[in-house]
Amino acid sequence: MTSPPLESIVASGPSSREDLRRVINPATGHLSTTWRQASVETVDRAIEDAARAQAQWAQVPRAERAALLREVAHLIDEDAQGFAADDSRENGRLLRSLLDDDVPSAAAVFRDAAERLLASEPVKENVDGGVLLHARVPHGVCAGIGAWNYPLACAAAKIAPALACGNAIVFKPAPQTPSSAHRLGTVLRRLLCEGSSEHAGLCSIVLGDEQVGQRLVSHPRVRFVSVTGSVATGQRVFAAGASGIKRFVLELGGKSALIVLEDADLDTAVDVALHANYVAHGQLCTAASRVYIHRSLFDAFRDRFVRRVQGLIVGPPDEDTSEIGPLVSVAHARSVRKKVAAAIARGANVCCGDLSDEQTQHTDAYVAPVVIDRIAPNDPLLSQEIFGPVACLLPFDSVEEAISNANAVAYGLAAGVVSKDVDTATRLAGRLRAGVVWVNSYNDQPLEMAFGGMGCSGVGREGGALGFAAYSEQQSIFVGQHSATDNGFAP
Ligand code: NAD
Repeated sequence: MTSPPLESIVASGPSSREDLRRVINPATGHLSTTWRQASVETVDRAIEDAARAQAQWAQVPRAERAALLREVAHLIDEDAQGFAADDSRENGRLLRSLLDDDVPSAAAVFRDAAERLLASEPVKENVDGGVLLHARVPHGVCAGIGAWNYPLACAAAKIAPALACGNAIVFKPAPQTPSSAHRLGTVLRRLLCEGSSEHAGLCSIVLGDEQVGQRLVSHPRVRFVSVTGSVATGQRVFAAGASGIKRFVLELGGKSALIVLEDADLDTAVDVALHANYVAHGQLCTAASRVYIHRSLFDAFRDRFVRRVQGLIVGPPDEDTSEIGPLVSVAHARSVRKKVAAAIARGANVCCGDLSDEQTQHTDAYVAPVVIDRIAPNDPLLSQEIFGPVACLLPFDSVEEAISNANAVAYGLAAGVVSKDVDTATRLAGRLRAGVVWVNSYNDQPLEMAFGGMGCSGVGREGGALGFAAYSEQQSIFVGQHSATDNGFAP
């Protein structure tokens, strides 16, 4: 039996005549989900609902708001299988990795927002002539836009802090992956309506493509926009918000570098590079697809790395043994293979990986992990995001050369350094143009971490104290010790 199409979750009800869209499961090639694209009218109503609900929500005591966020976390944990299956079915990510990482992390983000909310009392200071209050006030209506590679994580990272800080939010998931945000929206709608029907508009989920996204971010009532997506999308969103001087957090693409120093332990370096390149089958904004290795280690590193990569098990996302699943779609897999084929035509060497468009064992959305070497330093593959399981290995002779190569891209999201000398590695980290640098690790993201990029990789940070603060504005309230005679005017 097929499920009915998903509809946007909007307090005043979805509108009719909305277009039907389909999501194909990349692991099977079968229909996964049908959903209806929100109309302009639906988006506008979601924003109006949000504006009405927000004014009241901002006055709700912190403890009550925090309790709601904790309850959301609890319900995410309870329905972990449902959330994980949604994302896996739509983007092909491994079910095991979603259950071990994404779903518990999403619940943790809601708990963290509750804790930060309870700890965020206004600070009072006695100053010359009065009392200064450092307060935080909500933006009002926020818009959140998610990418398809980490759908639940994107939704949680935007919805939790927005509600905690007293805002309302309208969230739009990527068109490839509507279900987990829809499931989260359903949970929230139920909890919010249990509290008070006035709260129903606080979190709406609108389903749609870039036109829906554009309408959402350009609406004059939306004051804060958080987008996870490509640089091209970030640029359009930035432009759309310019006239209203909107506040932004833009989490955009990356072209990260991993530097393996001369003194690195080879096993650690290989482990870190595997993690940096093949998590989420390489469809990760932080993917370190440029691995710079000191020339003295290069051959030994490449041989060991290639052996490990050849041993990765490519298979269906719901099998426990699978380590690499399909990419999000056949079209995306083709675009990854095309980028690699172009680099090979320009002289790069493929150490391992199957680049044929027709896969015999699985659907054509699978790309067996690729390792490339002998690539020219100015090859376009080293400056464009691949977003697939492709690692490029490059030798370097001096640390200066490695830093200069690592920094030679417009992106600045993440980087990694592997060395036995942590002090040297940490000093080197400070010279890399990247919002996050991992030393002897990769992709670890504790809740305290402010995550985000420099340069074209984005604006602002998500997570940690800084990410939480982004969802409110600083307000200074000065309470004067007033007397009629000291105001400069005659009584
Ligand atoms: P995308 O830019 O195509 O789409 C992202 C979202 O933006 C989607 O929901 C899409 O519908 C929406 N969108 C597109 N155009 C829009 C517009 N003009 N106005 C408003 N919304 C618009 O990206 P994608 O293919 O879904 O995701 C992959 C990209 O996301 C990669 O570049 C990846 O690096 C990046 N990403 C970044 C992070 C990070 O934290 N920095 C995390 C995950 C993914």
